Amino acid sequence: MNDDKSTAPTNFIRNIIDKNLAANLYANKTWAGQPGPSKTHKNASIDAAKIRTRFPPEPNGYLHFGHAKSIILNFSLAQDYGGRCHLRFDDTNPEKENEEYVKSIIDGVHWLGYKFQDEYENNLYYASNYFDHMYDAAKVLINAGLGYVDKQTADEIRINRGTLTDPGKNSPYRDQSIDDNLQLFEEMKAGKYKDGEMVLRAKINMASPNINLRDPAIYRIRHVPHHNTGDKWCIYPMYTFAHPIEDALEKITHSICTLEFEDQRPFYEWVLKKLAEFEFFDKPLPKQHEFSRLNLSHVVLSKRKLIQLVEDNYVNGWDDPRMPTLVGAKRRGYHPKGFKLFMDRIGVSKSDSIIDYQTFEDAMRDVLNQECNRKIAVLNPIKLIIENFDENHTEICTVPNHPQKPEEGNREVKLTKELWIEAEDFEIIPPPKYFRLFPGNKVRLRYGFVVECTDYELDNEGHVTTVYCNYFPETKSGTEGSDSIKVKGNIHWLSTNFSKEITIRNYDRLFLSENPSELDNFLDDINQSSIETKSAYCEESISDVKTGEQFQFERHGYYIVDPESNSDEIIFNRTATLRDNWQK
Ligand code: ATP
Ligand code: MG
Repeated sequence: MNDDKSTAPTNFIRNIIDKNLAANLYANKTWAGQPGPSKTHKNASIDAAKIRTRFPPEPNGYLHFGHAKSIILNFSLAQDYGGRCHLRFDDTNPEKENEEYVKSIIDGVHWLGYKFQDEYENNLYYASNYFDHMYDAAKVLINAGLGYVDKQTADEIRINRGTLTDPGKNSPYRDQSIDDNLQLFEEMKAGKYKDGEMVLRAKINMASPNINLRDPAIYRIRHVPHHNTGDKWCIYPMYTFAHPIEDALEKITHSICTLEFEDQRPFYEWVLKKLAEFEFFDKPLPKQHEFSRLNLSHVVLSKRKLIQLVEDNYVNGWDDPRMPTLVGAKRRGYHPKGFKLFMDRIGVSKSDSIIDYQTFEDAMRDVLNQECNRKIAVLNPIKLIIENFDENHTEICTVPNHPQKPEEGNREVKLTKELWIEAEDFEIIPPPKYFRLFPGNKVRLRYGFVVECTDYELDNEGHVTTVYCNYFPETKSGTEGSDSIKVKGNIHWLSTNFSKEITIRNYDRLFLSENPSELDNFLDDINQSSIETKSAYCEESISDVKTGEQFQFERHGYYIVDPESNSDEIIFNRTATLRDNWQK
């Protein structure tokens, strides 16, 4: 179990759990150490886990920020209540799943800081290992007169289902005998019929106001091999039937899902209640609770759309730093702690909304400000020449690695006659309240000396190329005379002799409109200038950085070393600027 307690504020799901625990609802819950129907858990000891939650991804894509919300919610509940959270691959659909996705999902959960395997239990499960139990459960329903094999065509079934205003019509096969249904279901399993020739349906109520209860299909025929079970099955359970069974087999107490499953809750409860009546499962049964999914402005969070972005090469793969995937986030430099802080800030509720991307980035900034040591980089260099500085002299300046964390220590940065400074830090004619360099003005070279601007030089197009200054030797930062000359501006710099050229990649939002998912074609909304590459200078101490190292470039933002870096070229991805500077 993971030790660090979350600081998550309370929410309606926590309130439900508090109530359930106060009512001793799970006091007699047994657990055999592995999933199974009631007979598995019958003589087992009381479950040491106070609650069980699960994160149940379908392994048909990479995890995105929405999944992170579900992962953080489920795992932090288990942590905070002395429970367990299972990672369950919902791989009951034979067509779309693959191993690459399984691996990346496991990595993603680990990256966010959660464990599902330890010395006590291994809670990594595959729903496809439950096919035998699901088949047995279907037979329990058939034997109870609660399931029938329907030979109507898909069209007939659809038409006879009725509408929101009209009740459905009973299938002519609805009153087939139990024996006939058992035989047909076994023949379906044995491969006697073609895809779509018949389905197994639950027998509930064709006039139910909830269309999901009008005898929903629970098993269909698909002659497709499955990545785990191979050719063993040619019938597969429908998701809505499989899911409650998976939860009950794993003794999940709180099955938390997004709001679009609200209408399915009556069927979820029906399946479990019936199976408990026939002692296939025992009580307490899992309960489904819905919360609103995460939506972020200027972002699409749907696997189908993300797959399209990758497959049609709108981005450079799943881990493109512009992608709202966890692998993209990692490469972008977003921090796992930032995800948790963000989720705490937005909370868990039942109301649908689009969260401003700034709220997400602000959480990241707050975490990165703590986590990242500082470096100096000049992104739009012009030269500054200190005319009264000896050409052969190198002044060592002491620079703190993290201004709020003295324990991170200091490093040395060398100051020489010729420096790089930011083009923005000099103006020929200063606008009001401009305190940086302009002819006649004095500023502090951060961690160094006060300088006074004496002159400047332009290129043919009128751009400033070089600024000239004199320095005041007695004003060095950290010495007694440092404040003998008072200045209002403070600018950063790098020695042209002791700096290293780097490549910077700046990212902008991938979609222009706030809610691209709402558009007819979200691909038309792609921001054509969402990536900008430029070269810049950084202090020489970055020469030996490794992929994934992160820094704050002072006065600029947060940057991370990209895996495409090599010994000739260090590439930094900009994670976020220091402040929100998106145009609204
Ligand atoms: P998508 O809609 O992107 O295809 P999904 O729901 O189909 O996602 P699953 O693999 O089925 O993807 O999801 C695993 C879990 O993640 C589910 O419990 C689902 O509710 C949750 N989840 C998916 N998207 C979001 C989201 N945007 N916000 C919160 N939870 C989400
Ligand atoms: Mg889904």
